[in-house]
Amino acid sequence: MDIHEYQAKEILGRFGVTVPDGGLAYSPEQAAYRARELGGNRWIVKAQVHAGGRGKAGGVKLCDSEGEILDAADEMFGKKLVTHQTGPEGKGVYRVYVEAAVPFEQEIYLGFVLDRTSQRVMIVASSEGGMEIEEISAEKPESIVRSTVEPAVGLQEFQAREIAFALGIPAKLTQQMVRTLQGCYRAFTELDATMVEINPLVITSDDRILALDAKMTFDGNALFRHPHVAELRDKSQEDPREARAADRGLNYIGLTGNIGCIVNGAGLAMATMDTIKLAGGEPANFLDIGGGATPERVAKAFKLVLSDANVQAVLVNIFAGINRCDWVAEGVVQALTANPVDVPVIVRLAGTNVEEGQKILAQSGLPIIRATTLMEAAERAVTAWQNDKTQNSKLRAV
Ligand code: GDP
Ligand code: MN
Repeated sequence: MDIHEYQAKEILGRFGVTVPDGGLAYSPEQAAYRARELGGNRWIVKAQVHAGGRGKAGGVKLCDSEGEILDAADEMFGKKLVTHQTGPEGKGVYRVYVEAAVPFEQEIYLGFVLDRTSQRVMIVASSEGGMEIEEISAEKPESIVRSTVEPAVGLQEFQAREIAFALGIPAKLTQQMVRTLQGCYRAFTELDATMVEINPLVITSDDRILALDAKMTFDGNALFRHPHVAELRDKSQEDPREARAADRGLNYIGLTGNIGCIVNGAGLAMATMDTIKLAGGEPANFLDIGGGATPERVAKAFKLVLSDANVQAVLVNIFAGINRCDWVAEGVVQALTANPVDVPVIVRLAGTNVEEGQKILAQSGLPIIRATTLMEAAERAVTAWQNDKTQNSKLRAV
């Protein structure tokens, strides 16, 4: 789960990372009010979206007067900010963060990530901050410092000092850098984060080490341990299809094709999508209904998949171990009876109670296309989708 910059700054601040003073606003007028509260004569207005690259996309504005703040915020609110991280559809701006602008001497990149190879938290830092880490590694790879943390002892002071030296931080600021590094590490581990990124971390003109930007991502499976983190979720920043699914305990990944997939298990989902592609189609999504799906759950899954306007055929592929084919079949029948659909539905069942499941489908009187193997199911889905498309365009032409 991602959170906003202002939320990450508040968290990191509690762990000893120094952040600028700032205030959150839900309107341009409130942004101007926040600036007055902060005092000074130069401010930064920052669009709060779950994506980086805002600076280059007009989501970060330096302002010298109240009028400029009103204009900058007015420009941001209600817009979809498109950055290189948001995809072409962008992310809506409903909050802006106002900070007193800080003059700085140097920008540093600081990231904490999970390194799967060493199975440890890895610190990635560079003296060439301000650019994205991808750009740094392309243009100044020699500036990157990497260091993995031994989990049994945590980030020790000597190790943090070594990182500071490797980055060329002036000696008088080493202690501040150590506190910043240790604060980030503690926040990362204590709150079950999967990523902490400060870019830029700056050395200010008055010799402070300050986090001008902050990004944190959390392990969704550990959120139950951190209710204060869980409540920072902002659904306005999520793919609406995925957010709706998550609220219903379903695992949904939105894609760009036309064949909706309802499956059980992520591995089966991968195999299903590969087979659809092999058969000449493109998946619109995959929805994992998990193990032990009740008919109600299957019905919910159907509703969700069909709410995507791109879906022109639905392929249900269930390999029932913990699941029961008869329950899945009942769910399919329930869903299609309650909400008749005008796209072809293909169902392939295998495993526990498969005969009962097939019987339920056959006796339902619904136009369900059945298949035995996965390849057959994918081919029938693609053929049904193509026929349906041709028929529909013929109808439109008439
Ligand atoms: P991002 O583009 O989404 O990563 O947003 P950032 O918060 O990193 O802002 C982009 C750039 O704006 C930073 O790299 C800084 O160069 C600049 N910036 C942000 N805050 C300040 C500030 O307080 N003072 C000054 N002078 N520049 C800032
Ligand atoms: Mn940044």
